[in-house]
Amino acid sequence: MAVKVLIPTPLRPFVGGRDALELEAANVGEVLQRLTNEHTALKKHLFADDGRLRSFVNVYVNDRDIRQLEQQRTKVTAGDTVSIIPSIAGGRAVADALPKLSHEEILRYSRHLILPDVGMEGQRKLKAARVLLVGAGGLGSPAALYLAAAGVGTIGIVDFDVVDKTNLQRQILHGTEAVGATKLDSARARIEDLNPNVQVETFETRLTSENALDIIREFDVVADGTDNFPTRYLVNDACVLLGKPNAYGSIFRFEGQASVFYAKEGPCYRCLYAEPPPAGLVPSCAEGGVLGVLPGIIGSIQALETIKLILGRGDTLIGRLVLFDALRLTFRELKLARDPDCPVCGKNPTIKELIDYEAFCGVTAEPAYEGAEITALDLKAELDAGKPLVLLDVREPHEHDIVALEGSQLIPSGELPARLGELDDHADIVAYCHHGPRSLRALELLRAAGFTKVRSLRGGIDAWAINVDPEMARY
Ligand code: ZN
Repeated sequence: MAVKVLIPTPLRPFVGGRDALELEAANVGEVLQRLTNEHTALKKHLFADDGRLRSFVNVYVNDRDIRQLEQQRTKVTAGDTVSIIPSIAGGRAVADALPKLSHEEILRYSRHLILPDVGMEGQRKLKAARVLLVGAGGLGSPAALYLAAAGVGTIGIVDFDVVDKTNLQRQILHGTEAVGATKLDSARARIEDLNPNVQVETFETRLTSENALDIIREFDVVADGTDNFPTRYLVNDACVLLGKPNAYGSIFRFEGQASVFYAKEGPCYRCLYAEPPPAGLVPSCAEGGVLGVLPGIIGSIQALETIKLILGRGDTLIGRLVLFDALRLTFRELKLARDPDCPVCGKNPTIKELIDYEAFCGVTAEPAYEGAEITALDLKAELDAGKPLVLLDVREPHEHDIVALEGSQLIPSGELPARLGELDDHADIVAYCHHGPRSLRALELLRAAGFTKVRSLRGGIDAWAINVDPEMARY
């Protein structure tokens, strides 16, 4: 039986892409000599010109640093594992600089410490690591819980939302008692209870082109759990510009996607989707729904990939896109190639700084003209005054079944172009949906079709329930 040599990711290109090799040797010096004799390209990465092992390369026999043993004279026997651990470019992972574990941490992480691919070194890397979660929602919840439990030393969270009862069906970081609290306060309390060794850094803000670089710069890995295109492109571009890996996940209804975008080693999100779909084409979870377990699976994959990136072990999802279908319980895998013409990570990038992502994604926060929207309170006043209004519900029939404004007419937004004839083009129409975006699009369509008196209920039926009728069911 021979000695097994584990090759770290950055050095694999020099040994034919392999992650491990076996060879016969009596000590570490012989192991390295045989290795570099067989793979000559590796030599200059491991040894300086004067023949000494380069200072940024650490060698371990099993879990012990050879500097604490007999350096290159350290004996090896059949079945031993020799690991070559170079410091990661720009990283902090030089063994001696890694934080030590307390007795409590050694006990807490004991099931990691006995894993060959984690061990003391890996656990200390986790402790040294700084991971940024963008969003503490459906994907951020399981990611935060597993990363905290695994002992990631610092978890940053960017979120500006408040815990809402409708979040609890899938956002398992938050409990019923946290409804009404900020997601950051709720997340901090849960993480500190789960693992008091974790430092939680919170950023109560929307991630924007102004703050993204400053926030992301301070972290080693980003896990993007956002549910909107402007932030997704913003996170991607900021990660490319800063050279950070992004453990990406997204979910819709019963389907999820996961990948790792890391422009230093593979494609970025823009290589996959250079441009976002037109605004409104892909509905959000609030509009389209999502199965509660699904973000648990995808967010856990993001946590897993983040941990592998920190440990430098395993085959990450760099260059691969995993598609998960919850109803069929299938995982499909697509190979992703780098796009040489990618606008941000390609050979001649056109994006060299962060741009206006709202505009890029065609998202306009406000309707284009005044008077296009009506608030719930103003609508209530007009109805109370007896003004004849056509209340047009443009949601889906199953949403209409849950709750609807009294006397409203249902035409789902997708059917509207074909069913315009059902509406009187002189009527005073107030279109509404769940939160507002669909009725704003319906309004654009109706105006374009010659309807002159159309308004959209700002904030949708949800705003009506909050401001006018607190007894009304919300979803
Ligand atoms: Zn790219």
